[in-house]
Amino acid sequence: MKYQDYSREQRDAELSTLWEGINKIKEKNIKLNMARGVPSPDQLDLSRKMLDILTSESDCHAEDGTDCCNYGVMDGIPECKKLMADVMGVTPDMVMVGGNSSLNMMFDTIALFMTHPVTGGTPAWSLVPDRKFLCPVPGYDRHFGVTEYFGFQMIPVPMDENGPDMELVEELVKDPTVKGMWCVPKYSNPSGISYSDEVVRRIAALQPAAADFRVMWDNAYCIHDLTDDHDEILNIFEECEKTGNIDMPIEFCSTSKITFPGSGVAAMAASANNMAVIKGKYKLQNIGYDKLNMLRHVRFFGDIEGMKAHMKKHAEILRPRFEIVLNKLGENLDELGIIRYNRPRGGYFVCVDVLDGTAKRVVELCKEAGVNLTGAGATYPYGNDPHDSNIRIAPSFPSLEDLASAMDIFCLCARIAALEKLNA
Ligand code: PMP
Repeated sequence: MKYQDYSREQRDAELSTLWEGINKIKEKNIKLNMARGVPSPDQLDLSRKMLDILTSESDCHAEDGTDCCNYGVMDGIPECKKLMADVMGVTPDMVMVGGNSSLNMMFDTIALFMTHPVTGGTPAWSLVPDRKFLCPVPGYDRHFGVTEYFGFQMIPVPMDENGPDMELVEELVKDPTVKGMWCVPKYSNPSGISYSDEVVRRIAALQPAAADFRVMWDNAYCIHDLTDDHDEILNIFEECEKTGNIDMPIEFCSTSKITFPGSGVAAMAASANNMAVIKGKYKLQNIGYDKLNMLRHVRFFGDIEGMKAHMKKHAEILRPRFEIVLNKLGENLDELGIIRYNRPRGGYFVCVDVLDGTAKRVVELCKEAGVNLTGAGATYPYGNDPHDSNIRIAPSFPSLEDLASAMDIFCLCARIAALEKLNA
């Protein structure tokens, strides 16, 4: 029966039972973390052998003869450009391999466009005082942090099961001060949604008023499938080629959730025009990124097929964790009418909508009971979830046992918060 259909007495009785449950849990002084999409130690172990690849005895030359121990090759060694190109489904000439973080490359890209025109005849973005950025919601808090830092007014665009509301996007880009849009097209952070073919085609077909409108295509989860029956998205560059918009997208990815977060390899892909501007900055910024790490990655995987085989091992570790989250939500909350959630086929998150007006309270109650969740509202620009309902659950890090306990606590807290709200 739905909580909405309970009588006041039934709700009060249920609340006191739930509080008893939570109070018992608090006595145990539990400390569990489901706040960020961090791989678990056993996932990290999958890549430890990569650390044995380069020793003092190793030949550290790239295939073109570059000595990876020395300076040089600003945009990455050829074999790593090829590997990352295959990850993104582009050609190596479109790729720049950077340092250890794709978020850093995104930040750098926006920073570049703030100070230098994206393309001829347009002002640097810092000269556009009322600059705006489209932010599909719920979205990735660190994206929003970047555009907030650079003074963009962030415009939330609701997502449904196909991706961002394209009717709204098509309308908004008529404004020349709208300079770009964040996209996590596959297994979106946090919703787990992959953009439908229609959405990708409509993005590719956009006719923005701003000639320097850029789509930040953060393909962070492009090969992060949980099952063999996985999502596929259209290739944004192929679609933009057809629509004459090849300069619009800039794609990013990294091996942070393939090998080691913080010690992986990040890459970006863009058209020749964009790359000329981007590399014009990088060549002043860095004489060359960590080629030994690039070499290590290439030798570890061999090629994209090796990398995909490695991703299956991640999936085997992650899948039971997602199952625990989904089973616990299903068993404890489905019939109470207080929750909606996705069933992602990849990525790192389960995105939950608790009863409107209760997300902050759920996160607070969980914290008091020892479970740390991503802050409520974090998935919206300025931390402002207008419904106060969205919560991102990151199941990757805790052990299976801890995750089950954390989910029991989460479900109890979601029920308490819902009953308090309905009683208010
Ligand atoms: N983009 C998205 C959508 C993410 O979820 C994350 C976090 N894993 C990142 C970027 C950060 O990636 P990186 O470690 O390459 O900076």
